[in-house]
Amino acid sequence: MPLFEYVCKKCSHQFEALVMGTTNPTCPSCQSKKLEKQLSVFAVSSRGGNDAPREAAAPCGTCGDPRGPGACALN
Ligand SMILES: [Zn+2]
Repeated sequence: MPLFEYVCKKCSHQFEALVMGTTNPTCPSCQSKKLEKQLSVFAVSSRGGNDAPREAAAPCGTCGDPRGPGACALN
């Protein structure tokens, strides 16, 4: 679904709107239709979380040693 970010030219309210077909969104703050469409909003809001590697707490990947990765090589 096309999700666009708009800035209201009347009250400067910023919001995101799903645009279906040819319907024009209105400002949720003042109901104005004088909006400026913002570009390049792709996946901006979904960034920020970092996927830390989880292998550190897992048993040794090669031999299953419960002491941790590489523990089997310390013998
Ligand atoms: Zn507005």
